Amino acid sequence: MEIQILDKTFVPYLSALEIDAEVQRLAKDLLNDYKNEVPVFLVVLNGAFIFAADLMKQYTSAAEISFIKMASYNGTETTGNVTELLGLDIDLTNKHVVIVEDIVDTGNTIAALYNLVNRFKVKSINTATLFFKPEAYKQTIDIKYTGFSIENKFIVGYGLDYNKQGRNLGEVYQIK
Ligand code: 5GP
Repeated sequence: MEIQILDKTFVPYLSALEIDAEVQRLAKDLLNDYKNEVPVFLVVLNGAFIFAADLMKQYTSAAEISFIKMASYNGTETTGNVTELLGLDIDLTNKHVVIVEDIVDTGNTIAALYNLVNRFKVKSINTATLFFKPEAYKQTIDIKYTGFSIENKFIVGYGLDYNKQGRNLGEVYQIK
């Protein structure tokens, strides 16, 4: 059934079952690849909160989890635009880091995050994202754990918002 959020209409795109199957697959891949390690999952708030909760419940092995936010502001003339990592409560030195994102679009957020994480001497860094928009992607970083590769249209639900609303929806909707 179509839903209305503010001024926009959205149509059903992915059911809870379809999403669950993809999350399970991603958890299996991660469990397999990190079976000899204790990875650090860096969950990027707000959008990734539902995906991360479901993914972490299925990651049935030792792991550390930290919830982070990216802040970006205009610095001084010399520093230009500054991005900052908020909420990180784990020392990433010598850790295997997995960034957990809801969606990778242009990839600018991921690129900024890699720069910030790489200030630590990490052992490895990878990204797990539920959604990826290949047509919009402008970066060269390989997104190793990708759920759904989707067309370049706006989606909401399962953590993703439209003007702060819709994050609570259990299914994903696409703009009409
Ligand atoms: P990027 O930096 O990769 O361009 O954008 C990443 C961020 O843009 C995501 O974390 C998300 O907040 C937002 N975004 C990109 N595409 C969508 C979309 O289709 N729906 C929603 N709700 N947010 C999106």
